[in-house]
Amino acid sequence: MDAEHMGDKLLNVLFTEEQIQHRLAELAQEVWEDYKDKDVLLVGVLKGAVLVMADFMRALPGSAPIDFLAVSSYGSGTKSSGVVRILKDLDTDITGRHVLIVEDIIDSGLTLSWIKTNLESRGPASVEICTLLRKPEAAKVEIDVKYVGYDIPPAFVVGYGLDYDEHYRNLRVIGTLAPHVYS
Ligand code: 5GP
Repeated sequence: MDAEHMGDKLLNVLFTEEQIQHRLAELAQEVWEDYKDKDVLLVGVLKGAVLVMADFMRALPGSAPIDFLAVSSYGSGTKSSGVVRILKDLDTDITGRHVLIVEDIIDSGLTLSWIKTNLESRGPASVEICTLLRKPEAAKVEIDVKYVGYDIPPAFVVGYGLDYDEHYRNLRVIGTLAPHVYS
C-alpha cells in the first residue's frame, strides 16, 4: 500500500521507504560492530516490529538468530495503557545470551521497560534495545535505548508495521494518521 492509497487518512509522510532502509542499514552496521565478538539474538516484538526485523536483519553483514515475543499494550485506541501481558513468549532460552530487542516505536516506554525487565530476569548476558522510532515521552521513563533510528514528534503514526486498529501495517511509508480517523 502506498501513501496515495491512504487518501485523506494520512496527514503527511514522515519517512519514505528509502529513508527507512537507509537508516536501518546504518543501525545494522553500528550493531554489528558493537557485537563483533559476541553472538547476538534478535528479539522482535510482534506484530509491529515484523517489518523492522525483516529489513534490519537483512542489513546485518553476518548471521544472527531471531525470535519473537508478543505482548498486548494498546487496545484498539491510540494511548498506551501501561498494562502489559505476554501473548506469545520466546521459543529460545536466553540464559547467558546477548539479546537485542528490535522494536518499531517507543512512546511512553512503559511496554518496553516492562519487556526489558522481564527478559533481564531470565539471566541473559545482556539486553539492549534497538528501535526505529522514538517519541519524546520515552525520555520520561528510565529506559536506556542504545539504538534509535529517528526521534519523532508525539503524533500517532502508521505504516511500516505500525497499525491503527490492525489497519495500515502494510503501508510502505511511515506517516501521521489524520486525527479524523480516530476522533
Ligand atoms: P508505549 O508503552 O511505549 O507507550 O507503547 C508502545 C507500543 O504502543 C508500541 O510498540 C506500538 O505498538 C504502540 N504505539 C505507540 N505509539 C504509536 C504510534 O504512534 N502509532 C502506532 N501505530 N502504534 C504506536
